[in-house]
Amino acid sequence: NKITIAIDGFSSTGKSTVAKRLAKALGYIYVDSGAMYRAVTLYAMQNDLIKKDCFDKQQLIAQLKDIKISFKFNEELGFAEVYLNGQNVEKTIRTLEVSQFVSQVATVSEVREQLVFQQQNLGKDKGVVMDGRDIGTVVFPEAKLKLFMTASAEQRAQRRYDELIERGDDVKFDDVLKNVQSRDHIDSTREDSPLMKAEDAIEVDNSNLNLDEQFELIYNLAKD
Ligand code: C5P
Repeated sequence: NKITIAIDGFSSTGKSTVAKRLAKALGYIYVDSGAMYRAVTLYAMQNDLIKKDCFDKQQLIAQLKDIKISFKFNEELGFAEVYLNGQNVEKTIRTLEVSQFVSQVATVSEVREQLVFQQQNLGKDKGVVMDGRDIGTVVFPEAKLKLFMTASAEQRAQRRYDELIERGDDVKFDDVLKNVQSRDHIDSTREDSPLMKAEDAIEVDNSNLNLDEQFELIYNLAKD
């Protein structure tokens, strides 16, 4: 009984950590849909289509056919890394710079259409755990289990800040907090597929849960 598990929520709620662990425990594949929006954003940055205060939306739409995103399982890491036109970009897409542009890129309907189509294909006929913003509402409205993760903006920014510092990025907490808040705002107010809790999603506030407690809770929901 292969099922689809959709995990949505605001930025840095720990969706991907728990989703990866859940996929492993169930023998399902894990798909990070945010990585796909980040890869398109990286492409736009590399090709000068997006900069501070200027975004050439029409050019990006025209070049969408040249953007090939794929995933390749990394045995050592235990999850699939994202590739942009054959290049492993798993690490490059996580910088604060990409985070600062990604929500703008994600407002473009043509980008969403193409990525949603790919996401639906990735999850076809197999057990899949996918995390993002519109998985339970748009990508897999028929998902068997839908979760909506929340936590305070400060806690989420702290987590993201710790991650960035740990990988050696030179960032300030205030900039990370501002970015989390700005993405929350753009993601939940955009016209096309805004971030919202699906009617049948279970809300999980993990402000006061450690990773093991979170996993237990979600694993038990998925097992039933
Ligand atoms: O999940 P992550 O924080 O990496 O996602 C980066 C951005 O990509 C989000 O802030 C959002 O703008 C966009 N996104 C989206 N729909 C998804 C996944 C991500 O719009 N399903």
